[in-house]
Amino acid sequence: MITIKDYAIPTNLEEAYETLQNRRNNVILGGCSFLRMGSKNINTAIDLSKLNLDFISETDNTVEIGAMATFRSLETSPILQNNFNGILSKCVKDIVGIQFRNNVTLGATVYSKYGFSDLITALLCLDVKVCLHKGGIIPLDTFLENKYEKDILTKIIISKDSSKCYFASMRNSHSDYAILNVALSNRDGQWKISVGARPMKAQIANNASSYLSENELNDYTIEYACELSSQELVFGSNLRASKKFRQEICKVLINRGIREVMTWK
Ligand SMILES: Cc1cc2nc3c(=O)[nH]c(=O)nc-3n(C[C@H](O)[C@H](O)[C@H](O)COP(=O)(O)OP(=O)(O)OC[C@H]3O[C@@H](n4cnc5c(N)ncnc54)[C@H](O)[C@@H]3O)c2cc1C
Repeated sequence: MITIKDYAIPTNLEEAYETLQNRRNNVILGGCSFLRMGSKNINTAIDLSKLNLDFISETDNTVEIGAMATFRSLETSPILQNNFNGILSKCVKDIVGIQFRNNVTLGATVYSKYGFSDLITALLCLDVKVCLHKGGIIPLDTFLENKYEKDILTKIIISKDSSKCYFASMRNSHSDYAILNVALSNRDGQWKISVGARPMKAQIANNASSYLSENELNDYTIEYACELSSQELVFGSNLRASKKFRQEICKVLINRGIREVMTWK
């Protein structure tokens, strides 16, 4: 159970940020699904719901998603269904259930860098920038590598391009966390392979992505790229699956993904 002493509902971001920095145990509230599983003593809980961060919008070149956009809005957004092969709608649509997805937020998910995150795996194969109130605008992969700093994630910006995108997830049972997540994108022959739930946070398989981009695709090169991915990334064991099993699943999901994307016009 979490205990909350004070509750703040700021009307601007600077006020929210200052309140966050005031005390070590002041925290931002997303949808609270993850927070309420723990047993934190929160001094001031900061509710962002008056800051208009619950949006999904597009321009000619970008799609922007606010921190308070829920997974359900990602799933049902026509903008996201019509861009990036719908990968961002698809990757969240099976997470737990609709009530849950009505609650959990993009900002909390990306900011928390969860290793098991389906959404982060999918975002990583796109060109995504993360907007932090204090830390500014930085590429998602840099943000994931950087050490933790207490900040507020306000939105993400995704560049629109001609990428064909694919997402696959392996689970022991429907509502469980993933054993492994794989997302692929192919932009004019340039491949990007992202693997998450290794069980560590998602990472790009750089060698395999370059190899695929530089070689003609056939049975041999596809198999080899899958092998490269499983060798260059670090895998681990937890109660859901062993390191070895994840390595094998990784090859299978990437292989399927490449072959499926190749069939798309
Ligand atoms: C039972 C359960 C099952 C799940 N299963 C899956 C799954 O299968 N796949 C999957 O991908 N995910 C899964 N998740 C994770 C879920 O999708 C969300 O990522 C998670 O719940 C966090 O979202 P939230 O809005 O509930 O955040 P909260 O619980 O409100 O916050 C989580 C953390 O983020 C911080 N935070 C919130 N918003 C911001 C912000 N804008 N800027 C900075 N910090 C912020 C909070 O202070 C807190 O530390 C699961 C979660 C639970 C509880």
